[in-house]
This record gives sequence, C-alpha cells and structure tokens, in this order.
Amino acid sequence: MLDSVAAIKSLVDTSKSLIELFRTLAERCKDPALRDEVEQALADAETRMKLAQAESAKNLGFTLCECTWPPNIMLYKRDLNAVVCPQCGHRRSKIKAAGSNRRRIP
Ligand SMILES: [Zn+2]
Repeated sequence: MLDSVAAIKSLVDTSKSLIELFRTLAERCKDPALRDEVEQALADAETRMKLAQAESAKNLGFTLCECTWPPNIMLYKRDLNAVVCPQCGHRRSKIKAAGSNRRRIP
C-alpha cells in the first residue's frame, strides 16, 4: 500500500507543478481571451486533480472533511489521537484498534 500512496503523492505533486507552470505561462499570455480560456482550463484541471486525490485517499481509508469542494483529506495527529482537517481544523477522534492502522506518507 505504501507504494500506491507514494505513487499517488508523486502524481499529485507532478500535477500541481505542471498546473503552476501553465498558470505562470498563462499570466504572460498577451491575448486576454486566450489567457481566460487557459486559466479556466487550469482551474478545471486543478478541481479534477483534487477530486482524484480525495477519491484515492478515501479508497486508502483516509477520512474526508466536507468543509470545501473538493473535500479535504483529514490527517492523523498523534498528539490528539484524532484526524484533523488542514483547511478548517475540524477534528474527529480516532479509536485506536489493536494492531493500529498507522499510515505514513513518505
Ligand atoms: Zn475541513
């Protein structure tokens, strides 16, 4: 499973880099209509990427927070023994089962 998590993280990081690169290029575009079209396409791509990331996280057993669309992935905080949304701070207690299901993203 860690290989899958690492692969998904790598794909998301690469996608974010490409979106930022294209956003920088779009800012330099002199044609306002073309710039608007590219920026809209980038916003759509970013939303699709976040949805795919959230769906993958959900399939891996992560909890999603519904404070935004696309949803945010809640991450485990050991000191709180809870998963916490990085966007809004919403916290959900984690009941620790025998053999703990700790996840660690490289
Ligand atoms: Zn949230």
